[in-house]
Order: sequence, then C-alpha cells, then structure tokens
Amino acid sequence: MSFAQQPDIGSTYQGMQQEELVERIAARKKELAQDLLILSHHYQHDSLYQFADLTGDSLKLAADAAQIKDKTFLIFCGVHFMAEAADILSAEHQQVLLPHLDAGCPMADMSTRAAVEAAWNELSTATGIAEDAITPVTYVNSSADVKSFVGEKGGASCTSSNAERVLEWALSQGKLVFFFPDQHLGRNASYALGLSEEQVVLWRRGEPLGGCSQEALRQAKVVLWDGYCEVHMRSFPEHVHAWRAQDPQATVMVHPECRNEVVRLADMSGSTEAIISAVAASKAGSHWVIGTEINLVDRLTKQYPDKTIHSLTPACLCPTMSAVKPANLLWVLDNLAKGKVVNQIQVPQAIAAQARSCLDRMLSI
Ligand code: SF4
Repeated sequence: MSFAQQPDIGSTYQGMQQEELVERIAARKKELAQDLLILSHHYQHDSLYQFADLTGDSLKLAADAAQIKDKTFLIFCGVHFMAEAADILSAEHQQVLLPHLDAGCPMADMSTRAAVEAAWNELSTATGIAEDAITPVTYVNSSADVKSFVGEKGGASCTSSNAERVLEWALSQGKLVFFFPDQHLGRNASYALGLSEEQVVLWRRGEPLGGCSQEALRQAKVVLWDGYCEVHMRSFPEHVHAWRAQDPQATVMVHPECRNEVVRLADMSGSTEAIISAVAASKAGSHWVIGTEINLVDRLTKQYPDKTIHSLTPACLCPTMSAVKPANLLWVLDNLAKGKVVNQIQVPQAIAAQARSCLDRMLSI
C-alpha cells in the first residue's frame, strides 16, 4: 500500500503561535466532543500529547480504540502503521485520521509484503522446510500489508511487551520462525528464551539467501529480518558504561528495540508501558537511566520531579513521529468542523481481514 502525500495546510496554520493553537484546538475539541476521540502515542511531544483523550503505546491505543464505538472520528497522533491498526480494529462506521501523512515509521518501511514473500520462498527452498512449517511473526510496527501476509500464513504479530510469549508460541508451531521487521526485538526475545547465537540468523535484504549459508539456515530456529529502529540504534554500550560511572545508583532500563549488547548491560528492559510503570512504581529519590525516545523520557522527568531521570542517549528523537504538530491537528479538526474528512487512513477490506487475523492470533496467545 502506498500513502497519499500530505496536503499543504497553508501558512496560516504553520505560522500560528502556540497560545492560539492551544485555544483553538481546545475549542474545536469541545465543539466536536460527541464524535471525536484523540489518541496519542507516548513518543509525541507534550505540545500535542496534551490534547489526547487516550495515550499509550501503539497496541494499547488500537485496542482501546476498538472498545470505544460511540465516537466516529479517531484522530491518531502517531505514525502510519498505528493508524492502520486502529482502522483494522475499529468498527465499520468509525474513521481513523492521521494529522500528518508524512509520519511513517522507517523501521516498518524496511519490510514490504513483496520482499518478505520473496524471502519466505527462498528460505523454504534453501532449507527444504515446507512453507507451512515456517511460522511468521511480525512486530506490530509493520504495514497492514505485511500483517495480512502473516495472517494468511497462520502467523501472529507481537509487541515489545509480548514478543517472548509470541515467539515461544511460534517456535512450538513448526520448524522455523521468520521474524520481521525488527532484528533487535527478535534477537532479544530469542536470547531471553535461551536460544543460542547459531540458532538465530540474520537475513540481509538484497543478498542471495539473505547473505547466509544453507548450513546456517538449516541450523536456525529463528531467522531475523535486518530491520531496525534508527532511534533506539543510537544507544551503545558506551552510553551505559558512562552512566554507570556518573550515577552508580541508577537503574538502567531500555527498550527492547535497542541492540542486544545494550539490553544485556541494562538492569531491565521493557516496552514503553513497562518503562512508565517501573518509574511510576519506584520510590521517591530513585535514580533512572532510560533508553528510549526522548519525548517519553522528558515527560517522565517532568511527571516525577522527586526522582532523578536521565536519558541514556542524547538526541534520541523519532523524526517521523515529530512531523505531527499541533497545527496539523487543528487543520484536521477545522476540516471536520466544516464536515470534511481529511487524511483518512483506510485499509482495504481484503487486507484488513487477514491483518486482523494476525492481530487476533496475538491477542489469543
Ligand atoms: S521510534 Fe523507531 S519504531 Fe517507533 S515510530 Fe520512530 S522509527 Fe518507528
């Protein structure tokens, strides 16, 4: 699926001062309250996050949205795959809107259905493992198209909170698991389940047999797509060592999209929801070093002034998430007030049905 280009919202919106934006968005929210739900991912900047009716990670937001049937317009302050998941899980009469169409996820874009399908066939031929004995697992950070492929093949999606559980299920289904798009989440979950380095193999896009020998593929239990999150890739073991020296009493907690060398050095790893809960549950005076997107770390710092919270890595900002600005939200709201739906994200029915089965399978594991 390709996405439409972001329309020009015009200089009036782009030049508007923060104070005016706040006032006008609040007024529109009030006016449209009966039909409107605004959802925001934790990685959004506070200037936008403040308007959310619901906040959470991608799956929590989509699942929450699926429960709320009395609102027609769901404005998703996040990136494409999140809006798609909300559209797949929402009711037919609901419409999902993304305030800025350039807000994609570079990691999700690293695996297309065509590329995954071609690799799948190659993998089966090279290993001699029948296609139905290869179980696909896709991280929710993937397009609806990729999820529909996984749904068709009897696989499941996973999140950063349940990756180990879903992988364990997948390993029990057949002879091999094909995990995409995030190699780091897949590797971290595989090692947590006790798999050895030889059993976890990296498939490099664009190389024959993914750059692997037939023997390596035959020994593998999990084959990982070579996708990654450029934001979490900015954390290195050196950052952990530096913080250990600077604040020895701090607990280091990182997101599992970080490379395995970083996860192994950290005291804890977990999803954005797990990070928020761990900090919230800690005692006043606790010290934390958090390895994830900076907007979430900054928010925790403001929310818990009684705790010392550092960001593991400076400048850890998700550039596409931050394409969505309050001006884009106001533009969408103003159009809705005029009866015009803009930036709707609509997954074609045939794709949505299979993608839903991939999400449903995860929820049943
Ligand atoms: S933080 Fe990483 S995984 Fe999340 S939306 Fe940005 S690029 Fe994608």
